Amino acid sequence: MVDEVLAGAVLTIDLDALAGNYRQLRNEAAAAACGAVLKADAYGTGADRVGPVLFAEGARDFFVAHIDEGIRLRAALADAFPGQADAAVVHILGGLLPGSEDAFTEHRLTPVLNGLDDVARWRAWCADRDAPLPCDLHVDTGMCRLGLDRREFEAVRDDPSLLDGLAIDLMMSHLASGDDKASPQNAKQLNAYLEARRHLTMGRASLANSPGLFLGPDYHFDLVRPGYALYGGNPTTWRLPEHPNPMAQVVHLQAKILQVRSVDTPDTVGYGASHKVTRPSRIATLPVGYADGYLRSLSSRAPSHEDKGHFARAHIGETGVPIVGRVSMDLITIDVTDVPEAQCRPGQLVDLIGPRHTVEDLAAEAGTIGYEILTSLGDRYHRVYKGGGLRP
Ligand SMILES: *Cc1c(COP(=O)(O)O)cnc(C)c1O
Repeated sequence: MVDEVLAGAVLTIDLDALAGNYRQLRNEAAAAACGAVLKADAYGTGADRVGPVLFAEGARDFFVAHIDEGIRLRAALADAFPGQADAAVVHILGGLLPGSEDAFTEHRLTPVLNGLDDVARWRAWCADRDAPLPCDLHVDTGMCRLGLDRREFEAVRDDPSLLDGLAIDLMMSHLASGDDKASPQNAKQLNAYLEARRHLTMGRASLANSPGLFLGPDYHFDLVRPGYALYGGNPTTWRLPEHPNPMAQVVHLQAKILQVRSVDTPDTVGYGASHKVTRPSRIATLPVGYADGYLRSLSSRAPSHEDKGHFARAHIGETGVPIVGRVSMDLITIDVTDVPEAQCRPGQLVDLIGPRHTVEDLAAEAGTIGYEILTSLGDRYHRVYKGGGLRP
């Protein structure tokens, strides 16, 4: 990581806000335990820093997608809490790739068994060791992605001995439309899950992700699995605009002005000459681009008869300024004509994600979801971790 003085952009992760979000989700979960999803490097925020903070808050069930993410998370937890971190359960959502059994056991990771093929391989592994090693069972209730499908579920329902020799920790499923409270798919999946649970009573029950947690206590079961909301994402978009995002912002992204230039008319800015300057302007250049996860779809489009136009925004202090021209690999350009010159000199910080412009605002401008903005946050940023009560 580059030094802050040398860095073109600074990404600040507020670990106190993250801890507060965890406590809020745990309260919402009430009697259910509150796990934490840290896949994709804790949604771009840094799993090795986030994991210990959540462990200190009492989280004991951690979820990642890949086995190598689990190995690194285990090491980070053991580093921060020697001796105690054994209490953490690290679940690997991607399941049991053939040949990975050994690594699961060596690093004490819990595979999510996503089909009868996984089940058979884990049973054989346990039988060889004469020990029922922990695992989770995932039953698909409407994603058609991972988990036992209908036929596989019926097979284990009719012959429970197919699960003999396993130590099942979670019996889980996953919601497809939790972010849309009005979707009939939620109740449909809930009923399918309850039906599955009537037959597969082993282990703890778990269904809800971040939005699922806010669908009500029927969806909580024994353990909830929030990810996005921990990192400040809005798990209750259906309540907008009356109820703003209940979660605290965790991510703050600032870029330094490299250069400011005066541009006369007529002239154009950037690749493809896509932005036409229509008044004498000042244009500032920032060292952030699509290689940093500042998505190219944030490029500007002038209004035309078939398009109402599109300008993503940055902020200098209180003032919103438009991103003009194409987002290039390493650079973006903003129109600072309306900002006093004293506020836009080289080295000055501009907010790209901040209190006035959230991850979700930027996602809307990019035509995507906040999840993609977070998980795209690049590794060229200088990272600053605030709070967390651990290391600076
Ligand atoms: C990613 C994921 C979650 C967390 O979802 P969020 O919407 O980020 O809260 C929970 N469960 C499973 C199986 C997942 O893949």
